[in-house]
Amino acid sequence: MEKSNNASRVEPVQLGLNSRFVFECHPGVSCFTQCCRGIDIILTPYDILRLKTRLGLTSEAFLAIYTELKFLEKTDLPIVTLKLLDDEKNSCPFVKDGQGCIIYEDRPTTCRYYPLGIASLSYTKEREGDEFFFVVRESHCKGFDEQKEWTVKEWRRDQGVDIHDEINAGWTELVVMKKSFPANITINEKAKQMFFLASYNIDKFKQFVFESSFLTRYEIEDSVIEAIKKDDVALLRFGFKWIKSVLFQSDEIEENRSFKLKK
Ligand code: SF4
Ligand code: SF4
Repeated sequence: MEKSNNASRVEPVQLGLNSRFVFECHPGVSCFTQCCRGIDIILTPYDILRLKTRLGLTSEAFLAIYTELKFLEKTDLPIVTLKLLDDEKNSCPFVKDGQGCIIYEDRPTTCRYYPLGIASLSYTKEREGDEFFFVVRESHCKGFDEQKEWTVKEWRRDQGVDIHDEINAGWTELVVMKKSFPANITINEKAKQMFFLASYNIDKFKQFVFESSFLTRYEIEDSVIEAIKKDDVALLRFGFKWIKSVLFQSDEIEENRSFKLKK
């Protein structure tokens, strides 16, 4: 995840969950909404699910209107970023003068973390304590002049980051896994399309699962089928496991009954 612009500077301080920093952002700061312009925000699968639901769009429509396709550095995995407006300041499409963020309750993970960054994209609850964070200090940001002190843990809880990280954990694991591959090992076009489909285009992925030969090819427990039919978060998690076992050919394929091919 990334949120940066030319004026940003990363504090060379490694923060743990109990590290403290002083910061506060509120509509009274003179720089209010400046950080929502000229930025690069990678959207996670759960970010897209929340945003497309909030806006009443299909995932396909959301991707077409609000995102740009890129490829993640050191991997050839497709990622999507928020498409900025073509205005003077390249504003985020969701920032409005005098109102701030109009989708605040469903803002992306990176906006929630800010002004913190997370190293390696690999935060999971199980790894709590191993992970580290850093501060992104932008010259225009007056939030550092305020007096409120937080631990990283308190900030994550206050901003509602935990649920995003927990749901995205299977996906971040895939990205980290791909980053650890030697540079000469690439994934083919079909695999990239499957990664994109299950990660970002959740409505199309649902069609693929329920309207193609998918369910006739894999042995999938009835309880799992029922869950993914009703619950898009369950479908996202299912998709992450499917990408891992099928496209990344993880050893889990044999252990994981969900993706055994039917005989
Ligand atoms: S204080 Fe920082 S985070 Fe808050 S609006 Fe200003 S620039 Fe953005
Ligand atoms: S989504 Fe909201 S918080 Fe994030 S950059 Fe856009 S307006 Fe700002």
